[in-house]
Amino acid sequence: MINITTPLNKGTYKQPNIFGYYGNFGGAYIPEMLHRNVEELRTRYLEIMYDDAFQKEFKDLLHDYVGRPTPLYLAKRLSKLHNTNIYLKREDLNHTGAHKINNTVGQILLALKLGKKRIIAETGAGQHGVATATVCALKGIECVVYMGSKDIERQAPNVARMKMLGAKVVPATSGSQTLKDATNEAIRAWINDPLDTHYIIGSVVGPHPYPDMVARFQSIISEETRWQLKEKTGTELPTHVMACVGGGSNAAGMFYHYLDELSVQLVAVEAAGHGVNSGMSAATTQLGKPGILHGSKSLVMQTEDGQVVEPHSISAGLDYPGVGPLHAHLYESGRGTFLSATDDESLKAAFELAKLEGIIPALESAHALAALHQMKFKQSDVVVVCLSGRGDKDLATYMKAMDIKE
Ligand SMILES: *Cc1c(COP(=O)(O)O)cnc(C)c1O
Repeated sequence: MINITTPLNKGTYKQPNIFGYYGNFGGAYIPEMLHRNVEELRTRYLEIMYDDAFQKEFKDLLHDYVGRPTPLYLAKRLSKLHNTNIYLKREDLNHTGAHKINNTVGQILLALKLGKKRIIAETGAGQHGVATATVCALKGIECVVYMGSKDIERQAPNVARMKMLGAKVVPATSGSQTLKDATNEAIRAWINDPLDTHYIIGSVVGPHPYPDMVARFQSIISEETRWQLKEKTGTELPTHVMACVGGGSNAAGMFYHYLDELSVQLVAVEAAGHGVNSGMSAATTQLGKPGILHGSKSLVMQTEDGQVVEPHSISAGLDYPGVGPLHAHLYESGRGTFLSATDDESLKAAFELAKLEGIIPALESAHALAALHQMKFKQSDVVVVCLSGRGDKDLATYMKAMDIKE
């Protein structure tokens, strides 16, 4: 199934080379103190992940605990609107309400195999924090989540969930007191206790092997899509797959088993915020330049002298100034099509889906839906959109938007 010894990523978009590079992006830029941890992970992750017993436990948990396979749903009324065939991959129906749990289930099993006794994680909106606290409760392992103090205020329900699940939530008070500061705190904490601690990163970002490891755990999304589509249409290959991109993990999962199927158009949708050039945006590939953020080289929103620019998106999960190295490579090589949707377009798309299909999407996922309006489809096209999460967490934002309209 996989070729662990392949030294270079020539001819495939799936695998980085042994140094963790996808084309010009990736690698592991880490402090000396973390070298042992990251090296241990790098030399062991594939052997552990593809061990039969590990795969069985991972797949059993995905089935019985997470609720997989998630449905591939033909959205008939949405399809009619766009005069094509649109399927939704229902990651919103996972336990905890989004795709993030696929990765945390995988990483907790991996941490236990490595003999770790403590988990740390960073979180912005709290979604990854909740998914991490969930699997730590499941396995009875200590969990510390770093979160910007501004985000702790803004995301009270998720902070309460994490605490109820037994996690300790530590505020990051530096910088803008948001996600990137929480990530810096988590890295610092890892340096202080590298032997017993595993750091569960929540997206396809961070030093090698994290981007590849997280992409592989999330690849269950496209693995299922292939056989589900075959059952429904007679072919495993759609014409388009679409997903929103914050760090890029749901997109990596949705794209993974289609990366080397060149007939399938990969459409990644970033958050344009108030507009790509408004100064209030998180459209990283449009605005970013090569730089190093959180342990890897990628496209990063930065000033002339390399200071990270504060991003903006209405959706906390997309409010990140970087993007995983796989996506930077898909962008630079032209393999991926990168679009962006504004806050307003995404709100509109969320209300549209609710009324057309009876599904309230997460604001993040609504960005992918908004981009449907920017595409030109043929009637015979088959489009799969990753519905990365459900909208319960965004109800306050949706309520505010409804007030404005009335
Ligand atoms: C966190 C989150 C995202 C963005 O993260 P990616 O790593 O880009 O997938 C998207 N959708 C939902 C529902 C999320 O919770």
